[in-house]
Amino acid sequence: MKALIVNCGSSSVKYTLFEMESEKKAAWGLIERVGLPEAFYKRRDINSEEKQEAVKVANHTEAVELIIRELLDKNRGIISDVSEIFVVGHRIVHGGDKFSKSVLVTDKVKEGLKECFSIAPLHTPAHYAGIVAVEKMLPGIPSVLVFDTAFHQTMPDYAYMYALPYEFYEKDRIRRYGFHGTSHNYVSQRAATLLCKPLSELKLITAHLGNGSSITAIENGKVIDTSMGFTPLQGVVMGTRCGDIDPAITTYLIEQYPQYKDAKTLNDLMNNKSGLAGVSGLSADMRDILKAVSEGDKKAELAFNMLVYSIKKYISAYYGVLNGADALIFTAGIGENSALVREAVCKNLSSLGIEINVEKNKERSSEERVISTDNSRVKVLVIPTNEELMIARESRKVIENDN
Ligand code: AMP
Repeated sequence: MKALIVNCGSSSVKYTLFEMESEKKAAWGLIERVGLPEAFYKRRDINSEEKQEAVKVANHTEAVELIIRELLDKNRGIISDVSEIFVVGHRIVHGGDKFSKSVLVTDKVKEGLKECFSIAPLHTPAHYAGIVAVEKMLPGIPSVLVFDTAFHQTMPDYAYMYALPYEFYEKDRIRRYGFHGTSHNYVSQRAATLLCKPLSELKLITAHLGNGSSITAIENGKVIDTSMGFTPLQGVVMGTRCGDIDPAITTYLIEQYPQYKDAKTLNDLMNNKSGLAGVSGLSADMRDILKAVSEGDKKAELAFNMLVYSIKKYISAYYGVLNGADALIFTAGIGENSALVREAVCKNLSSLGIEINVEKNKERSSEERVISTDNSRVKVLVIPTNEELMIARESRKVIENDN
């Protein structure tokens, strides 16, 4: 019984094939630079080494078709019969407030997804093309949509509303949505298992720190607040995103610089040229920033300090919002791998009961682990995220509930 997970990004298609009995990966890979001459296809399965080759794929439809053809290929593929796949799970970045949970794909659901095109114009059309291509290649096999925004739909209105005139919420659905929901959901479930307590008795702060980062406050398994907003731009300082800034800076830039009168250019500035990359002038990658800091680069040090400080502020605010916390969880590229960031974030938070064991924190491991001291009131955990597995589990749940 296999589940195929498809993740159509703005310019890439990633996939993972799971054996659902063991929840182990059977095959995985990606096609990057979809639609460009330098597109390439990287793939692996349990029987073979990683391969990479240049491919010609004009769009997401062709990329998905190629991936499925290769998985089913008599010589090179790992699936001997289509019927081995019982579900296809699609990662969907934005479900607006239309989708508050994972859903089985129907014509009505596809129409609903089309209505989300304007809210995430880079991603949703790519998701849609992927869904249609899967339907064509794997007729009769059910598809499920799993939304990055869905987990956050439990937020109370006073947390998700912006204090703009109400009509913008009514007409344009402008509100906080939050992202990385699948990851926050996964690590919160794992934390409950590790802490041997049901989610319904826990207050958690989850810190997904990667190239894009978000912090979430979770009580009784429900999101109370999250740092990303209407788009992933809001919140903490990220690799290339500025995070929270005074919104009047945008109107100032529009007034002062002719190029920023164009919304696309201004968006590009805040989403792709800011954050660690913008402040350091060096790189969006935390590893490069840490190296530069160790060599005495002052701007890299400033970028690092800004990122850490912004994370600290959200953790402290959410501790207050939750009126305490049982655990703080670090996940994603930076959260899982950078002991320096974790140590800096947790420094001087002992008044909140957050104390990490410096030695445990430094131990390199890809396992789930506790890094707080025995006396720390708040347990501090590192939990590697696994969004693909979460999508596979969600997809299986939807299929089982539907039958
Ligand atoms: P993600 O978006 O989750 O893939 O995370 C990417 C970020 O994780 C990049 O900023 C990487 O520099 C960072 N990262 C990955 N490995 C390490 C590491 N060993 N130390 C510090 N940062 C890391």
